[in-house]
Amino acid sequence: MKYSDFRSDTVTKPTDKMRRAMAEAEVGDDVIGVDPTVQKLETLAASIMGKEAALFCPSGTMGNSIAVKTWTHELQEVIVEAKSHIFNLESTHLTFISRVTPRPLASNRGAMDPDEVERAIKIPNVHTPETTLLCVENTHNNWGGAVVPLSNFQALRRVADRHGLRLHLDGARIYNASAASGVPVLEYAKCVDSIMFCLSKGLSAPIGSMLAGPRNFIDFGRRIRKALGGGMRQVGIIAAAGLIALTEMPARLAEDHARAKTLARGIAGLPGVQLNPAEIETNIIIFGFEHPRFPVPAFVAELARRGIGVLGAPSGAGIRMVTHKDVDDADVEAAIAAFRAILAG
Ligand SMILES: *Cc1c(COP(=O)(O)O)cnc(C)c1O
Repeated sequence: MKYSDFRSDTVTKPTDKMRRAMAEAEVGDDVIGVDPTVQKLETLAASIMGKEAALFCPSGTMGNSIAVKTWTHELQEVIVEAKSHIFNLESTHLTFISRVTPRPLASNRGAMDPDEVERAIKIPNVHTPETTLLCVENTHNNWGGAVVPLSNFQALRRVADRHGLRLHLDGARIYNASAASGVPVLEYAKCVDSIMFCLSKGLSAPIGSMLAGPRNFIDFGRRIRKALGGGMRQVGIIAAAGLIALTEMPARLAEDHARAKTLARGIAGLPGVQLNPAEIETNIIIFGFEHPRFPVPAFVAELARRGIGVLGAPSGAGIRMVTHKDVDDADVEAAIAAFRAILAG
């Protein structure tokens, strides 16, 4: 039986072209700064994002960890969105590595209210931490791949400037945001001091994320990366796949978004499925699920038995499905058919 894997876009396999590029990559020891393929990737990423420099990181979590560690020090506070990946899903590096206080704020589908952010910024005094960093996310994972509008970024930039805050963008899926909104990634990046984005996930590289920002930020970040154990040697082998991810894969993301909409429309309205297809903007579908015969884990297992992979949503009361390069129209049809067979029967 074919397995249609909607658990995440992290399951994407490298393309044949990536595998060939990996085999043929020119490499050197990147820790001493002599891997030409990594250098090419870092230069390209910096120029696409309009930043002075970029750093190749083994994961998005490490990229975000390095950004927070580099922009802050202890006795400080970081404003984060309440459902953000950086606050909820990165094993507490804000406190564990950077030793800063996270200040979570609610949002409207990932867009924090600039006035609320401004009110949350602390005036330096002896009692409280100093607020020095604001983190934003686009697309917003836990808000079901929501696209945070450029106007929100611009408003948050003005707040950050008034109070001397740094602004970091967790843009793990910034290319999905761009594909859905038509706003070039550079326009989002222009609003922030630093950006992290993933080459894995929808762009289908096997490993790797980029962190881009000012030269001295990246220089210090490189030392933090080494301290965290992220200094890698002939890593051009992986960067070669990253170059293809960055140059060739963004163009196909709209296809994933169209399939997510088709899938959402196909399962909305079935018994137990609490989903408004109009809210699906990119490749992530998160929906509430409540059914008298199927608790979420039982339903997930029943779908798996029929060859459809989904995940329980982080909230526990719902389900998460993600479209990507390695699911096609037939996989979407198979998923809709499995939902109908289980729930309409
Ligand atoms: C996946 C993801 C990350 C980090 O990714 P890893 O490479 O798995 O560490 C960060 N932020 C968001 C929003 C993500 O979806």
